[in-house]
This record gives sequence, structure tokens and C-alpha cells, in this order.
Amino acid sequence: MVECTDLFEETLNREVTEYLELTPIYDETTEGEDYEYIASAKLKFKCPVCENKWTTAHGTVKFVYYLYFKKRILFVQVYIYQQRCLPCNRMASFKTYDDEAVRLSYDFVDFIDRKYFGGENDEERPQRNSRAINNHKVLYCDACERGICVYLRRLRREQRRQTEEQKRETQDIS
Ligand SMILES: [Zn+2]
Ligand SMILES: [Zn+2]
Repeated sequence: MVECTDLFEETLNREVTEYLELTPIYDETTEGEDYEYIASAKLKFKCPVCENKWTTAHGTVKFVYYLYFKKRILFVQVYIYQQRCLPCNRMASFKTYDDEAVRLSYDFVDFIDRKYFGGENDEERPQRNSRAINNHKVLYCDACERGICVYLRRLRREQRRQTEEQKRETQDIS
């Protein structure tokens, strides 16, 4: 997990100013609970040892935030979960696509707007296209290891849907 708030700061600052002051520096002034917003992104990885490169459609990005409502200050820190290289098992460095960082920042601000300020549900922005859909290496993913990976969430959603479909089919037969 790597802190990379600066990749999102420009867009967040632009989007948030209407009603909030954004403070991407976390310190002891935040009292109470921190909240999390988890999102899926397409990410690029590169191994520092063997130069192996790959992309994932299931990159996990975590916004940790605290909203100081009275003063309208939003504390934000953004983290990206790494993946390990398949041949040499080393933690790889990553890059975000610029349009993905912008999209995630928009979506996060929408989420805050809906949750705390009664905002309308904006049209969902699609994630950058990827062919690497079913190629997630659970054992090489830091987010999977910590049980919060967007890939695991998607699997669980699909399993629920399948169980419900099976239930419906059984009901149809009986
Ligand atoms: Zn490698
Ligand atoms: Zn994962």
C-alpha cells in the first residue's frame, strides 16, 4: 500500500472547492473515525528487478477521509495497493493512467456529495478499457492479501448473483 495523494490532488482541489476546503495533509487534528472509499482502477505495474510489465483491471485504490463538517474541511489521503511480479515475486512499482486518476477523483467527490450533501447520483464514469479481466493473480496482490481487493468484491457480487439465479430456477421447477 503506497500513499499517493499527490496524483489526485489537482483534480480533487478543482472539484471540491465549491463547498469544502480540501486538506490532503493528515495530522492529529482529525478526531474520531476515519472513513474509507474503495474504488477499482486500471493500473500499470513494472517490476524493479526483471522489468516485467503488466496492467490490471482490478487495481485497488483507497481514499481515506475525514469530513470536519462544521468547518467544511475534508481531509483526504489516497493509497494504491501494489502487486508482486509473477516471475520474481518482488513488489512492483505502479503508474496510474491520468484519465483514471481524474475519473476516481470525480467519483470520490460525487460520493462525498451524495453521502453528506444530498447530491444527485451522477452518471457513472466507466473505467478505462482493459483486456486483462480474468487474469487477477490473487496471491500476488497486496489488496487481496488484505482482503479488500476490488477483484474479491466483484467475485462475491457474481457469486451472490449466481446463487440468486439458481434459487429462482429451483422455484420455477417446483
Ligand atoms: Zn520481476
Ligand atoms: Zn487483488
